[in-house]
Amino acid sequence: MKWWTFLSLAMLAACATTATPQAPAPRWSIVVHGGAGVIERSGMTSELEAQYRAAMNRALTTGGDILERGGSSLDAIQAVISEMEEDPLFNAGRGAVFAADGTNQLDSSIMDGRTRAAGAVAGATRTRHPIQLARRVMEQSPHVMLMGQGAEEFARSQGLEEVPNSYFFTERRWQQLEAELRRRGLPIPPRPEGAPPPPQSWNMDGIDDHQFGTVGVVAYDTHGNIAAGTSTGGTTAKRWGRIGDAPIIGAGTYAQNGVCGVSATGTGEFFIRVGVARDICARIEFQHMSAQEAADTVIAEVGATTNTAGATGDGGVIVMDGRGHAAWAFNTPGMYRATLSAGGQPVVQIFADE
Ligand code: ASP
Repeated sequence: MKWWTFLSLAMLAACATTATPQAPAPRWSIVVHGGAGVIERSGMTSELEAQYRAAMNRALTTGGDILERGGSSLDAIQAVISEMEEDPLFNAGRGAVFAADGTNQLDSSIMDGRTRAAGAVAGATRTRHPIQLARRVMEQSPHVMLMGQGAEEFARSQGLEEVPNSYFFTERRWQQLEAELRRRGLPIPPRPEGAPPPPQSWNMDGIDDHQFGTVGVVAYDTHGNIAAGTSTGGTTAKRWGRIGDAPIIGAGTYAQNGVCGVSATGTGEFFIRVGVARDICARIEFQHMSAQEAADTVIAEVGATTNTAGATGDGGVIVMDGRGHAAWAFNTPGMYRATLSAGGQPVVQIFADE
């Protein structure tokens, strides 16, 4: 054998070793996030911290039960995200942040790694479960993304549950909106029709986690199928029909069997510009990075990207590699995150130092 043939074979072997994570593939696996941001021990009461940890554990149980029974990754993520959309702790469904005009405008997306079919909805205002609407877009329409009024019409034609916009109202998010609008010198809209009357006093202590709380799930099922989904109210006091990365396939969500699944959270503008979810999967596929390396690399890129105001990108991702090994990365003080695989112990973390 010529020396260079030997060398290239040796190099290939080295690549193959890094390409294939050595840990045996789990039968199934799930990884969940509940948003990233300035989530610090000092800014959170122990009561609220316990509530978040319980919610993340519940998410693992809901998804894990479905996957353990042989259910699909798509069904698992839809069930978990639907549950989190009901939970006012998270910035998705009920508990979503408010746009500057005092409405809740919801974004969501889902992707099936088997076929790379995808569905997304932006600016939904009446569908109780935006993740279910995203799935209907994927499975029951020829399109990938629907917005606003049209998306609602499609939801109705699909018989999905409709609620008044005030269903999504929570006092905590309303107070965050008022504070943000005051800070920016913008007018405060009237409280939404159907919202409860304003409280006598409101204490923001221990609950000022600002806009964070987007939810996302990536699951790997017993058939080897990966799916990913994300749901959010976006950013507090958003204006002009602003849409973030959550409903953008390739930015906030991506899934491709045998390669990876991703759901992102953070300041969406940066995640769209970097093309975060697709970039992570491309690095795994073509550069043979591990899920962890790819996540770290791309989140570092987000953090090195600036906007016109001089701010840099902040947020995080959950990632699953093609064989069901989960990873995460974030450049914020915290990210609500959790993972579980068949036969394993649940891992639930919030702060960066865990
Ligand atoms: N990525 C979401 C958005 O920009 C917000 C978040 O994840 O906190 O709409």
